[in-house]
Amino acid sequence: MYELIVIGGGPAGLAAAREAWDQGLRKVLILERDQELGGILNQCIHNGFGLHHFHEELTGPEYAARFIQQIQDTDVEVQLDTMVLQLLPGAPHQVHCVSAQHGYQILETKAVVLAMGCRERARGAIALPGERPAGIFTAGAAQRYLNMEGYMVGRRVVILGSGDIGLIMARRMTLEGARVLACVELMPYSSGLTRNIVQCLEDYHIPLYLSHTVTDIRGHNRLEQVVVSQVDEHRRPIPGTELVFDCDTLLLSVGLIPENELTRQADIPMDGRTHGAVVFENMETQVPGIFACGNVLHVHDLVDYVTAESQRAGAAAARYVQGEQAAHEALPLTHGSGVSYTVPQRIRRGSGKVQVLFRVGRVFGTSRIVVKDDTGTPIAQFPRSHMAPGEMEQITLPGVLLDRAAGGLTLSIEEVEET
Ligand SMILES: Cc1cc2nc3c(=O)[nH]c(=O)nc-3n(C[C@H](O)[C@H](O)[C@H](O)COP(=O)(O)OP(=O)(O)OC[C@H]3O[C@@H](n4cnc5c(N)ncnc54)[C@H](O)[C@@H]3O)c2cc1C
Repeated sequence: MYELIVIGGGPAGLAAAREAWDQGLRKVLILERDQELGGILNQCIHNGFGLHHFHEELTGPEYAARFIQQIQDTDVEVQLDTMVLQLLPGAPHQVHCVSAQHGYQILETKAVVLAMGCRERARGAIALPGERPAGIFTAGAAQRYLNMEGYMVGRRVVILGSGDIGLIMARRMTLEGARVLACVELMPYSSGLTRNIVQCLEDYHIPLYLSHTVTDIRGHNRLEQVVVSQVDEHRRPIPGTELVFDCDTLLLSVGLIPENELTRQADIPMDGRTHGAVVFENMETQVPGIFACGNVLHVHDLVDYVTAESQRAGAAAARYVQGEQAAHEALPLTHGSGVSYTVPQRIRRGSGKVQVLFRVGRVFGTSRIVVKDDTGTPIAQFPRSHMAPGEMEQITLPGVLLDRAAGGLTLSIEEVEET
């Protein structure tokens, strides 16, 4: 029987496994369906990783390599090419998986860390109108073709969605000799990091059309034209605003979905906003001994935050296996005005200081983040000069304040009038 099985060998799984090892667990196994460890980082050959964690700028594969080495320095077991098919919570938990090398296995473990990452929303999820020619890719699929398989996916490109993957691919396609004609975003703001807007669009003179969307796709075999229209405040296309782009490629960067099929099958309570499990402050789901971290829990913009969160999950899994009892009483933390979601959603009293990650629902200027308890009394406030949905926010709530709070907590944003 294992002490801990980690499902997924991306940056989340690697950090959780190493931390659990450092905290004293000696029977730890990572299960990864791909042929190598590292997760999505292996296809992210641009730099910009590790600024917070290592205080240097690394490429995705370099960042992953450091954590892979950290795993190789231990006796943590790794099974590659191994797909986890089912998780059955219990005492012990059972993990069903299959691989060419070991066949069908049913593995038993005291604790599990879910670290399966996320996948991209594709054309079907956003009901794109028009014909169905070749030349329409998710941005991540195009990134994999280009950076790992060595295929150039197109020459004249339009990008729908201004999430980070789309922005990164605008620059990448340009560097490979393609002409990127436009990046088109439905919302009046970008969902990507500001640094990516500047470094991937503005530096290459690629126009960003905010409040616009694709309203027609033309082409029989290969994509020939994309029609883009402006949208009103209800996100409906405005007739007469059509722009026609002659292009052979459309890249979709329209959101990521945490890979939670295993989590749902295991009846682990989910949060409809994050599309990940509901977790306590130590990343434990509401099923004792099952933890979640990284993009499977909520979509992160920076891998450094994934690493920090996953180390918390690994350490907590180790404490669980070592028999440390978690406190029973938990305060619910809910999202108030201006906040899309929070992680964690539950905070156990007596846990000490707690880091809360969240996203805002729209762009805010000078404002404050306010945490109130059930009586409406603010227990903590944090000033901010700018917040946007594309950039994850984090605050740390001191344990002494949490222990004093009456009932549940609500996190909201209040705008501050500038004088
Ligand atoms: C295009 C792109 C650009 C990015 N740019 C940056 C950047 O510049 N800077 C930055 O800091 N961050 C960036 N990020 C974010 C960062 O890469 C992610 O936040 C991070 O990789 C998430 O780690 P993860 O381990 O949660 O998920 P992943 O890296 O997706 O790893 C999940 C792993 O789980 C495995 N898995 C899933 N299901 C199963 C199963 N059933 N059985 C076995 N294995 C399974 C998958 O194969 C995968 O290896 C970028 C992300 C993308 C996609």
